[in-house]
Amino acid sequence: MIKVFEPRLTLSDKLSVLKALQNNYISGTSPIIEEFENEIAEKFDRKYAVAVSNGSVALEVAFKSLNLPKGSEVVIPSFTIISCLSALLRADLKPIFCDVDKESSNVSLNDIKKVISPNTKALLMVHTYGLPCEAVEIYKFCKNNNIKVIEDAAEAHGIKVDGKPCGSFGDSSVFSFYANKHVTTGEGGAVLTDSEETYKLIKAMINLDFKDPERFNHENFYWNYRLSGLQAGLGISQLKNIHRVIKLKQNQGSVYSELFKKSEGLIQTPLEKIKNVNNNYWVYGLVLNEKISRKEVRAYLYNNKIETRDFFWPLHLQKAYIKSAEKKSNLPISENLGRQGFYIPLGKHINLNKQKYIVGKILEVVNKLS
Ligand SMILES: *Cc1c(COP(=O)(O)O)cnc(C)c1O
Repeated sequence: MIKVFEPRLTLSDKLSVLKALQNNYISGTSPIIEEFENEIAEKFDRKYAVAVSNGSVALEVAFKSLNLPKGSEVVIPSFTIISCLSALLRADLKPIFCDVDKESSNVSLNDIKKVISPNTKALLMVHTYGLPCEAVEIYKFCKNNNIKVIEDAAEAHGIKVDGKPCGSFGDSSVFSFYANKHVTTGEGGAVLTDSEETYKLIKAMINLDFKDPERFNHENFYWNYRLSGLQAGLGISQLKNIHRVIKLKQNQGSVYSELFKKSEGLIQTPLEKIKNVNNNYWVYGLVLNEKISRKEVRAYLYNNKIETRDFFWPLHLQKAYIKSAEKKSNLPISENLGRQGFYIPLGKHINLNKQKYIVGKILEVVNKLS
């Protein structure tokens, strides 16, 4: 089976973890955490970074740290990972779903303008599948309208917009370092900000609100969302390798796009760039023409030992959400992506021959079904 993704660790990754182990840096309070946090902040052009146990809790504390009144309206894209919605609901905020652009799968400033109201207090800006949002324009617009911005750069490691890294926009930003992200610690994440106040608050939130001098008399019921020292050891080495990972995926991405040229009209392939910013291909996603059954295509590929994965299912249609929501919104592009999109193997475990094999099988089945 050709897996959709496989983590590959370098020798330096392994040595870096071993070094943490040798130094007894195993807990989430060991000095290596601060070292990792400093490197994250530097890499992504921020004053502060807080390492946390995963990207989902990074979103949760980022929302909580906004200290918005209960029920405040927050605009989020419908086409993204469930973590975005669950974090927002756990912070007692109200989601306002925004549709995304057909080509980039990202929210545009125009889409945002259609859904905001005087009650909008915050916006979650997510860069999807390796293409950046109009980060500069969106942040500027929100600032002028008193809307807080949280940026989710989990799928945009190493991308720059107007010379500024994804992860440096918004009042705070979050990363995930899950195994399939460009920089990984296995499980892990971070919240980044330039505000000292937010930084201190998030540090306390993820560390059970331990504070001197009365360490065990707590002011708040907070969480233990710490990352471990061993994971930080892996992260430090991974951060140094990010350009190589992106280069490999970009090469594979352009190979795929070239090979798929024959599928015009039947398959939509990802944009190679947007406003001069190259796709960093967190995943290589395809969207099938609506006449073609995704289920049948994926089953055929599976039988030919090619693993694929569905796109995200729109947040406004989630089983867990619909039962509590007053009404369904109609977001046709997110819904179409959710129905017809899937992604295919990408990464160090495949090579040119495998890419040709994969595309050959896809063209075969798509032509048969169309
Ligand atoms: C992966 C991802 C997350 C969640 O990260 P985990 O570390 O898996 O909890 C959040 N947001 C986006 C956009 C992601 O792709």
